[in-house]
Amino acid sequence: HTAFDSNGGGYFGPYLKFAGWDALEIQGKADEDVIIYIDGESGVVTIESAPLEAIDTHLVSRQLTEMYARDEKDMRNISVASTGQAADYAAICGINLSYYDPRRKEIRIKQAARGGSGRVFRDKRIKGIVVRYSSMGGDSNGPADQSLLRKAGQRINKEISDFDASQNNMREVGTPYLVEIMDRFDLLPVENYRYGSHPDHKKIMGQYWKNLFDHSGPDGCWYGCTMACSHTIPHFHLKTGPYVGQAVWVDGPEYETLGGLGSNCGIFDPEAILEMSFYADTYGIDTISAGNSIAFAMECYEYGILDKEKTGGLELTWGNTEVALELLHQMARGEGFGVVVGQGIRSMKSVFAEEYGADPMLLNDIGTEIKGLESSEYMTKESLAQQGGYALASKGPQHDEAWLIFMEQVHKQLPTFEAKAEALHYFPLFRTWFSLHGLCKLPWNDIIPVSNKTAKEPAKVPEHVENYCWIYEGVTGQKVTIDDLLLQSEKVYNFQRIMNLRAGYGTREFDYPPYRLMGPVTVKEYESRAERYDKSLLEDAGINPAGMSTEAKMTELRKYRQDRYEKLVDAVYKRRGWNSNGVPTMETVTRLGIDIPEVVELVSKHGC
Ligand code: SF4
Repeated sequence: HTAFDSNGGGYFGPYLKFAGWDALEIQGKADEDVIIYIDGESGVVTIESAPLEAIDTHLVSRQLTEMYARDEKDMRNISVASTGQAADYAAICGINLSYYDPRRKEIRIKQAARGGSGRVFRDKRIKGIVVRYSSMGGDSNGPADQSLLRKAGQRINKEISDFDASQNNMREVGTPYLVEIMDRFDLLPVENYRYGSHPDHKKIMGQYWKNLFDHSGPDGCWYGCTMACSHTIPHFHLKTGPYVGQAVWVDGPEYETLGGLGSNCGIFDPEAILEMSFYADTYGIDTISAGNSIAFAMECYEYGILDKEKTGGLELTWGNTEVALELLHQMARGEGFGVVVGQGIRSMKSVFAEEYGADPMLLNDIGTEIKGLESSEYMTKESLAQQGGYALASKGPQHDEAWLIFMEQVHKQLPTFEAKAEALHYFPLFRTWFSLHGLCKLPWNDIIPVSNKTAKEPAKVPEHVENYCWIYEGVTGQKVTIDDLLLQSEKVYNFQRIMNLRAGYGTREFDYPPYRLMGPVTVKEYESRAERYDKSLLEDAGINPAGMSTEAKMTELRKYRQDRYEKLVDAVYKRRGWNSNGVPTMETVTRLGIDIPEVVELVSKHGC
């Protein structure tokens, strides 16, 4: 329901840019399945009929890479954007971006999974967009001053070489290193975010995946990336679905997949998660949205909102790996209850309320979507700033906009509303800047330089911010400060908000998280962390819980937390230059230079 952007690694973006394209807009729909081929050498774009090629990513990306490459060496010059069969039926589908791994002779993929772009892709009958660029070199984007790029590159590469093993160990473990940390701080989503930890998390921790990963070649999803965190698992034997019995390579799994399709569904069987990860990717399904949607359906099943009759015989009990997998297969076949789940939580909430008589308030409380997007995999109950990071994000609760949970909850760096509002101004803008410039965010703060020990604002990683100023100047020749970079983002961020406004979704009422992401919805949840919530009532809300029933305590805690959230929203809107309804003021749109007549008319209508 909002303007959306989703980013992914792989070679597609850079090759498209080097082939001469700043953006690619696809209008209309084809009458038959097609492939769009962009030849960066000849500058010719063709739209070709594609009746015979596969739809699932692991097949079509190989077919198209082989079809358009002149020889094996040329396969590295091809990147394919594709989705999968599920995108013909399910809204929660994204796009996969490929690159050829010459060492392993495998097609590897990264996902721009969020926001439903895969469904749009297939609705246009596209099987793949292929870009070929064969003149790859260090100066393919025509940098103004390569010495500045080298200076930034050498500094970050040295830090990664020196410190990665003792910091996050991304080069050996990748993002699964987070599972253990999330569990330790009670932040790992378990059973539809009811809880934040589980003893079985050990089965899906980083060490387990590290042992399975193929370490025979570099794991960068872009040329020369020293962090090289895009790992892959070889020769995994599938046990279900249309490719049963085949041995495949499975890219990832990333932390978000482990949290979504794993712990949040009560699933801790690593092989089952790997199978789900493979199928979700090749079918084009977003693992975060699928994980949360299945978890939501499982909780509804527990409460009797769903039963076997409604699910077509599927028992949606926590941890039921067979059923979770079958739901993914049904999404791809376009049949059964999987299609209902595949439309995402917002759609399920309407169906369950209207057709099954479920209590809409309960559904709204436990359905972890905001602005129609399922939230990413961090338990935000104890982090007000992260609740804002999710719900105040223009595109919905995707952590790549503002990941403040550690800053607030672990490092205690955001003690006041003003500090939270400042963070909810700075970080969404800084992170938007990565998306605007096609850069991977990980080398910004997944490796920490020595200088950070004495930095005034360590969360911003000032030395790395300086790297990005050098990179921008090196490419464009334009000298910039961090304020210039933030201003670039702020224009886009506010314009996105205005697009939401135009679509009817850019005001305050759409900026609230479901209560499940703010506090305990059920008695069982409250009592599982009673000491923490009692303390919060006493110390934060000033209410002595002694002698109160759990229900009464829940009511008071909810009042306190919802009131606190309102105060946060007020502070953030003020910092962002928006009015109390969340609309950018005339002063803001004028300052940002986006005061074109349509924008002025729209914000005026909203009292600005
Ligand atoms: S750090 Fe970024 S560019 Fe490098 S491998 Fe990981 S995801 Fe890809």
